[in-house]
Amino acid sequence: MNKKYFTKELVRWHAHVNMRSLPWKEEKDAYKIWLSEIILQQTRAQQGLPYYLKFVEAYPSVKKLARAEEESVYRLWQGLGYYNRCKNMLATARYIAEELGGKFPKEYEGILALKGIGPYTAAAIASFAYGLPYAVVDGNVYRVLSRYFGIDTPIDSTEGKRVFAELADELLDKSDSGGYNQAIMDLGATVCTPQNPNCGECPVQKHCVAYKQGLIGELPVKSKKLKVRKRYFHYILLHAADTLWIHKRSAGDIWENLHEPLLVEHTSQLDSKELQKQEAYLLLPIGKQVLTFEGSLSQKLTHQTVESRFFSLHLDKAIQMPENAGKWVKIKELKKYAFPKTVLSFLEKKLYF
Ligand code: SF4
Repeated sequence: MNKKYFTKELVRWHAHVNMRSLPWKEEKDAYKIWLSEIILQQTRAQQGLPYYLKFVEAYPSVKKLARAEEESVYRLWQGLGYYNRCKNMLATARYIAEELGGKFPKEYEGILALKGIGPYTAAAIASFAYGLPYAVVDGNVYRVLSRYFGIDTPIDSTEGKRVFAELADELLDKSDSGGYNQAIMDLGATVCTPQNPNCGECPVQKHCVAYKQGLIGELPVKSKKLKVRKRYFHYILLHAADTLWIHKRSAGDIWENLHEPLLVEHTSQLDSKELQKQEAYLLLPIGKQVLTFEGSLSQKLTHQTVESRFFSLHLDKAIQMPENAGKWVKIKELKKYAFPKTVLSFLEKKLYF
């Protein structure tokens, strides 16, 4: 009874009250829906919106994206973080263009088989683009369902994932799966928000267990606390005339494929004197030059906090660096490269762009 009520009221709210307007809503092109979903993973809609518009303009079709130069795509992505998304997105676009004739798969299983696409994104594309009966289950959906039904099974447990997935399937309005999925995501994003939900405006408040029993602050439940690792990065900006030395970060760590100045990572924060005693610094063929401290920035990622300190060193001429992967780049050409957010903020602050 409460399940039928939930679906009916949610769909009614979506049709008559929900005014959340975003450019990818009502979109039927699977490529554009996929683009929006990849951009919106771990990103708020308002932050992702300008990126979505830029990508659609630069690459209006999956074939155009597949043909794009890697560096240009990373440049456009710059600032969004979670660069693995960008890497997988490009790989998937190339796979679709080369192996599937530039056409998105039209079945759920085919969509799910694509790189970087999990059950949530597959359900979103399948229901929005093709009206297939698959329910989305994301953070918004977990929150709304756990509160409305008063479910305290941890959402990050195997059992929780099964319980919520089955419930979401049962509640789905199969005659309009796209509309229903949009409705529950919008309700979670705009009304049943993590903090201070607007229960007064909620279409399903009448039977909401959390509302009636004062459990809103307790639900949803998570079993694991996220462990956040602190890392200390020391960037040395090596200048020679009008060039700066940068290199591309390699695989297996954060910010893969992005560029950065010379990096010395340490287990604690170092000042310039301590930094000059580190092996990476001593290996540089630079004689007794003194580092100048330029400032520090902090960036929070999901599992890590990166504390970055920046130092500069002005050389008479470009030197042969111990690491072969890097290069000396003219300062006015730096904007052609993609950098992690912290490095970009620093370079912008120092008016390199
Ligand atoms: Fe969420 Fe409040 Fe609506 Fe319950 S009544 S679903 S807690 S917004």
